[in-house]
Amino acid sequence: MKIDLHLHTSEHSGCASSGEREQIEAAISYGLDALTITDHDVLCDISHIALLNKEYAPFKIFPGIEVRTRKLNEDFVVLGIQDDELQARFWDYEDLHAFVREKNGYIIYCHPYRFKNTVPDAVFTHIPDAVEIHSTNIGACDYERILSLAQTLNIKTVANSDSHHKSTAGIYHNILENDVSTEAELVAELKKGTFTSGADDLRIRRYNAEIGERERYIKRLIEEGKDAAYYSEKTNQWHGFYDRVAMGKSYLL
Ligand SMILES: [Zn+2]
Ligand SMILES: [Zn+2]
Repeated sequence: MKIDLHLHTSEHSGCASSGEREQIEAAISYGLDALTITDHDVLCDISHIALLNKEYAPFKIFPGIEVRTRKLNEDFVVLGIQDDELQARFWDYEDLHAFVREKNGYIIYCHPYRFKNTVPDAVFTHIPDAVEIHSTNIGACDYERILSLAQTLNIKTVANSDSHHKSTAGIYHNILENDVSTEAELVAELKKGTFTSGADDLRIRRYNAEIGERERYIKRLIEEGKDAAYYSEKTNQWHGFYDRVAMGKSYLL
């Protein structure tokens, strides 16, 4: 069973440019069996998810959330918990970790090293269930260090799209050994660790051509002394694209 555990929809993530139906239909067309909607700091409406599941069966849609932690400024996908507190609070990572443990959920460390070269100490004292090693928000240049982080923490790596547009839905995914149909089964399967990573190589090549072009342009701007604000204004694109290039990193997959 192929599942993308980290994906955004324009209904609830201002930064996303495809709606939930576009994302679901794209994932189906790319051969996925399931996805998890993880919008920024907002829980899914469970009855709405149930309707989507009816409509798109046998494809499965699971609810999730991506939580931005204060101070650390790192993002974590939380699965298997539908508690209003998740979206009502400003979370410190340690508290979020304890909450997820108490509620028997699953917590994934998203795109480590995105805008820095270190991992916060709290991640070593409060170990997440898994760390994301592939997504459209992780460049191949960080692969080795994420792998070694996962080994140090002795946790699984997961591969997700972190898609904000239908063109990347499911571009990376996880291949579960056993099919799951409920959120509880999904979490149990993830905790067992019986899955491997999958990638859509053809789409990755196409995506990289686009990123290469974007980053060449950003490098030119940097040479000309133009800043991230200039880049955003000029292109209407997220400053994070510029920031990574400015620190010598890349979004090439
Ligand atoms: Zn986003
Ligand atoms: Zn995300």
